[in-house]
Amino acid sequence: MNSLVVDYRDPIFGIFTIFLIIFVASFLTYAYNIYIERKSRKEYRDFVKKFELGDLKEDDYINLYTTYNLPFDSIILLASSFLHKGEYNKAVSVYQALLLHVKEPVKKEELLELLGKTYFRGGFLQRSKDVYFKILKFSPRNKQALFHLLLIHEKLKDYEKAKDILESLDEIDEDVKLDKLYLKALTIIDDVKLQNSEKTSLLLEIYNKNKIIERLLLQFLLRFDKGYFWENITQFDMVKIIDLLWYLDFSDIDFDIVKTDKFLTDLYSAKGYVKNSQRSDIFELSVLISTKNSTLDVNLDLNFYFICNKCKKTAPMYETRCPHCYSILTLKAKPQLSKGYYEKNSSLQ
Ligand SMILES: [Zn+2]
Repeated sequence: MNSLVVDYRDPIFGIFTIFLIIFVASFLTYAYNIYIERKSRKEYRDFVKKFELGDLKEDDYINLYTTYNLPFDSIILLASSFLHKGEYNKAVSVYQALLLHVKEPVKKEELLELLGKTYFRGGFLQRSKDVYFKILKFSPRNKQALFHLLLIHEKLKDYEKAKDILESLDEIDEDVKLDKLYLKALTIIDDVKLQNSEKTSLLLEIYNKNKIIERLLLQFLLRFDKGYFWENITQFDMVKIIDLLWYLDFSDIDFDIVKTDKFLTDLYSAKGYVKNSQRSDIFELSVLISTKNSTLDVNLDLNFYFICNKCKKTAPMYETRCPHCYSILTLKAKPQLSKGYYEKNSSLQ
């Protein structure tokens, strides 16, 4: 009977037990690894699905960074899609969440820059200002922060602070000559202590040194010094302010001056205010003049869009700084026949 039972002190039993333990441990480790891998794959698949649906939440971005080790730059690129789609609140949430996890100062600075830019684009100027000042505390030569602070002060009409920022930009060798002129003109226009006639002569002084402020000057004259505007209009490039001239009230137009100039005669013939023109060098005006001179009942009108001669992008409204590249006074008015023309035509078919 003893020969059939293996004694537990038998060395063979000992070796067998050790192998059994090793086998069980290996099996459990293997099974656990498979479980973890499957779980991760499922998570990953769910994640990719969310990604495809454009459904990523702020936490998902943190996961991408901390769990899936996606490079920082790629995450920033993904999050910037919110910025491009105009979903500023989502972009802000992602940048703020990432700021809590990112340790390197360079990355923190980049995130703060993006946060400031997002607030700026979303119109939250005060928050944007706070973020950029925070950046300047540890990185006083940060160009992007200084430039955006300049834009913010300009928008808030805080021209004295804008001038301080220009000095800082000047110190880091940025070319701010044009910005200084522009700011000087804005300061004059908004100065409540100056008479309009004083403003006119100060603006003319700047204009004579640099024609770039032409539109600012003419806009001012049209509002506050119409007499000077009409007396001197033919000395300026009137095509550049075609939109301003087009939308003038009938009573604000000096028709004695209009008579003396071909462009003005064409423009106001196209508008239907005078009948002295047959054709214009500007196609859209020519079309309008022809319809006004004919007996056809065609309801045509003109509207304008603006194209930046620096970045070539367009804007629906005139802005003194291009809304895309922030260049100063680079938007040019382009006339286009209004939709009514095509509707009228299509109804004839
Ligand atoms: Zn531009």
